[in-house]
Amino acid sequence: MEDRPYAMLIGGALVAGAEAFEILNPATEQPVALAPDCTAAELDAAVAAARTAFPSWAATAIDERRAILHAIADRLEANAAMLARILTSEQGKPHPDAEREIRGAAANMRLTATLDLPVNVVEDTSARTIETRHVPIGVVAGIAPWNFPIALGIMKVAPALLAGNTVVLKPSPFTPLATLKLGEIVRDIVPAGVLNVISGSDRLGPWLTGHRGIDKISFTGSTQTGRRVMESASHSLKRVTLELGGNDAAIVLPDIDVAALAEQLFWIAFRNAGQVCVAAKRFYIHEDIYDDLAKALAEYAGTVKVGNGAEQGTQIGPVNNRPQYQRVLDLLADAKAKGYRFLVGGDASEAPGYFVPVSILDNPPEDARIVQEEQFGPVVPLMKYRDVDDVVARVNATEYGLGNTIWSNDIDRAMEIANRLESGMVWINEAQIVHPLASFGGHKQSGLGSEGGVEGLLAYTVTKTVVVRKPTSVSA
Ligand code: NAD
Repeated sequence: MEDRPYAMLIGGALVAGAEAFEILNPATEQPVALAPDCTAAELDAAVAAARTAFPSWAATAIDERRAILHAIADRLEANAAMLARILTSEQGKPHPDAEREIRGAAANMRLTATLDLPVNVVEDTSARTIETRHVPIGVVAGIAPWNFPIALGIMKVAPALLAGNTVVLKPSPFTPLATLKLGEIVRDIVPAGVLNVISGSDRLGPWLTGHRGIDKISFTGSTQTGRRVMESASHSLKRVTLELGGNDAAIVLPDIDVAALAEQLFWIAFRNAGQVCVAAKRFYIHEDIYDDLAKALAEYAGTVKVGNGAEQGTQIGPVNNRPQYQRVLDLLADAKAKGYRFLVGGDASEAPGYFVPVSILDNPPEDARIVQEEQFGPVVPLMKYRDVDDVVARVNATEYGLGNTIWSNDIDRAMEIANRLESGMVWINEAQIVHPLASFGGHKQSGLGSEGGVEGLLAYTVTKTVVVRKPTSVSA
C-alpha cells in the first residue's frame, strides 16, 4: 500500500488531513491506500475557502469560466490512463470501462461549456425594462456515489462552475481516490477555493449537508439517503437536486430480432456489474419470444468473463463494497429460499473479493423482492407479459421513476408505450444514453430536479428580476 499519496484540495492547497481511513480494492479486499478523513475543522476550511472565492468567481465573464471547464477536460484526458487505474483499484470496474468513464466526463465538461445562461427580457419599452437573470447560488456541495465517482462528480462540477458557483465535492467513502487525484491535477488551473475536494468516512456527508456555509446540495445516491439530505437541507433552506435510485424496466415487444439483440439486452442490465442507476433491473418480455430470449441471454452470460477489473479481458468486475455485496447476496438467498428458478448463477463464490456471479431469474412472481427492489448488482429477473396494459401497469407500479427502455421495430407502438411510462427518461431501442445537453432526472422517488441540459444548469442558479423605470425626458 502506498503511503498517504492522496490529499484533499482545500483553498488551492493540498491537505493531507489530520486523520485517514483505509480504501479497499473490491476485487481482493486488500487495502489500496489511505484517504484523508476530513475533520470538522478541515470541512470548515473547505467551505470558507469556497465562500471566499465565490464573489470573484461569480463576477468572471462566463467565457472565462468556459475556458476553465475546457482546461479541466484537457487534464482529465491527459491523465485518463492514470485515473482509470486508480478508479479500477477502488471501484472494481474493468480498466477499459474506467477509462471510458474518465473520457466521458471530459466530453461532458466540454459540452456543458457550450451552454448559456438565458436572460428573459419581459419588457423593453421607452418607459421601463424588466429582465429576469439567472445568477449563481453560492457554495455548492456535490455529493457522489461509488458507481461512477468521476462521471457523476463532473456532472455536478461542470454546470455548478459554469453558472458561477464555487464547489465542495465529496466522493463516496468507498471510492474517494480518483476524485482526490482529480483535485490534485487541476489545482494549478482552477482559482484557489473555486473547486475543493474533500474525502471522509460516513460522518462527513451529514456534516456537509448540515453546514451553514453551503447554499445548494447536488446529491446522487440512494433514495433513502436522499430523504435524509433533503431533511438536513431544510434547516437553512438549501436548494437541492437529488438524483436517486431506480428500478428501471426493459419492455421487450414480440417483433424484435432475438438473436441480434440478446447481447445488447444483456449489457443494459450487467454493465458495471449492474451498478448503474439506469440499468435494466427487471425485464418484461412478451410471451411469444420469452423462451427464445431467455435462452439467448443465458447462453451469452456463459461467455462473459467476470474477474478483477485490472486483468485483461475482464468484462464484469466485483460489486463495489461489502454492504452492497451482502445486500445482493441477501436478494439471491431470498430468491433461492422462495424456490425461484435461475437460468444462470445464483450461488455466491467462495473466492476473496465481492464477486457475484451473473445471475438471471426465470419468471419470478411480480411481488418477489428481486422484482420490487433495486438490486444494484449483477442479478436480473426476466418476466413474461401478454398485453400492453398489463405491462405498463406493472412497470409503473413502483415508487421509482428513473429511466425505462422499450425494444421494438415498431416505433409508433413503442412510442405509445413510452408516453404512458412514469419515468424521467425513456429510451427506445437504446439504453443509458445520457447526453450532457439533455435533461436527466427521476420522477417520483427517483429524484428531485434534474441534471444536464439547460434545465440542469439553471438548477445551479437563482432568478434575479431587475426592473428599471427609465427617467422620463423633461421637455424644456
Ligand atoms: P448512498 O446514498 O449510500 O451514498 C451516496 C453519497 O451520499 C455518498 O457520498 C455518501 O457518503 C453520502 N451520504 C451517505 N449518507 C449521507 C447523509 N446522511 N448525508 C449526506 N450524505 C450522505 O448511495 P450509494 O450506495 O453510494 O450509491 C448507490 C445508489 O445511488 C443507488 O440507489 C443508485 O440508484 C443511486 N444512483 C442514482 C443515480 C442517478 O443519477 N439517479 C446515479 C448513480 C447512482
